[in-house]
Amino acid sequence: MLALGHPIGHWPAAIVIPLAFFLLVAIAKSKRHVAQTTLKLCKSCGTSHPNFARFCRNCGRNLDE
Ligand SMILES: [Zn+2]
Repeated sequence: MLALGHPIGHWPAAIVIPLAFFLLVAIAKSKRHVAQTTLKLCKSCGTSHPNFARFCRNCGRNLDE
């Protein structure tokens, strides 16, 4: 009788805290994913590279210039 129709605002901490932790981890992972997939374009030849790349793999130009 208690579980059915129980208001969302009265969930026990044993459920809310792990759920909140899971959401924070998911958000952190998605942010890191975006950072890793951001592309850098070579200013000389236009080749795309991962965000952490420092030099063009095609022509060797410094991508941070
Ligand atoms: Zn290049």
